Amino acid sequence: MNTTFLPVNPPQRLLMGPGPINADPRVLRAMSSQLIGQYDPAMTHYMNEVMALYRGVFRTANAATLVIDGTSRAGIEAILVSAIRPGDKVLVPVFGRFGHLLCEIARRCRADVHTIEVPWGEVFTPQQIEDAIRQVKPRLLLTVQGDTSTTMLQPLAELGDICRRHGVLFYTDATASLGGNLLETDAWGLDAVSAGLQKCLGGPSGTAPITLSASMVEVIRRRACVEAGIRTAAHQDGDDEMIYSNYFDLGMILDYWGPERLNHHTEATSALFAARECARVIGEEGLDEGIARHKLHGDALLKGIQGMGLETFGNLEYKMNNVLGVVIPEAVNGDQVRKLMLEDFGIEIGTSFGPLAGKVWRIGTMGYNARKDCVMQTLSALEAVLNRLGLRTTQGAAMQAAWDHYSERC
Ligand SMILES: *Cc1c(COP(=O)(O)O)cnc(C)c1O
Repeated sequence: MNTTFLPVNPPQRLLMGPGPINADPRVLRAMSSQLIGQYDPAMTHYMNEVMALYRGVFRTANAATLVIDGTSRAGIEAILVSAIRPGDKVLVPVFGRFGHLLCEIARRCRADVHTIEVPWGEVFTPQQIEDAIRQVKPRLLLTVQGDTSTTMLQPLAELGDICRRHGVLFYTDATASLGGNLLETDAWGLDAVSAGLQKCLGGPSGTAPITLSASMVEVIRRRACVEAGIRTAAHQDGDDEMIYSNYFDLGMILDYWGPERLNHHTEATSALFAARECARVIGEEGLDEGIARHKLHGDALLKGIQGMGLETFGNLEYKMNNVLGVVIPEAVNGDQVRKLMLEDFGIEIGTSFGPLAGKVWRIGTMGYNARKDCVMQTLSALEAVLNRLGLRTTQGAAMQAAWDHYSERC
């Protein structure tokens, strides 16, 4: 066995895929701070600050706003395993891969899962969702806001009212969209939202910010009482099932983050520092200004790709600001293009899954990489690689189109 291990020294990459992306250097610096004990007043103060900062990012007054230690799906799983009782009906509008993930996790929670689907590259109308709610009568509506697998952004603004009228709890996975696209937790009537740091929030994966409405907290608290052997008047049929996870039991996690500070896990300190710095940086720029920045650079990339003569994927009216699907021209091999981009330019762009595998690249402009220099470098590298592989494009057209877009806007 080779016993010489060199220090960690990863190659320099520009990550322009659908996530993860390069972390903001300020976030990396915050993560290198020394550790402190989990009940040190300085630590609990940071935890309270993280709650306050993410209320700003989620646009909510929810007291129950905190971070789950784990990647984005830890946030999804914590919410679903804590909210869904076995046998509960849930409705999942599926418009890409992450809708299927919600179905899979909900099935593991023993939910009775109902789906509606649209072709990849499209989204649902509020009417389609309301019709399905009428038919299925679910207890929860589980949605994805931005599905990076198709680059589509599901409009959510009107769904909260529909859910309230039908007595349905409303959840969305905003991992890929939060910080780069508008999300209004309170104004849109969302009961639960989860996210992750590695997309528009500009941090590393490993932390999942979540927020829960008072009604969602009540649902979870009722089950916590059952676990403790306490039956209250609030218990209805079907409430007598405990949460089948310790790590993701939001009742216990809320008691850890709340004034009781009941021991649950050991909060991941370095990850907490990262999450705090991501939200602080967003607050410093301004959430609306950050969303506008994602739109500016996302549109510049789109103009550049169109200027190069390439076709885009999906209904552009509902495209996320921060990721673009590009149809792979028949004349080239998509993986060979990605390989040359990585090896010769140090730039990573994304491939696709399922029905889009081998047909679409996904190029992201998000978080720290939603910048003009990143867009221009990616366009020039892609143009060079395509021409190298024999796909003739008008040299320089992509960059000129992106420049034109910037000079019209700035
Ligand atoms: C990227 C993404 C995730 C990622 O989940 P991880 O557990 O952090 O890998 C989840 N949901 C959506 C919608 C995403 O785009």
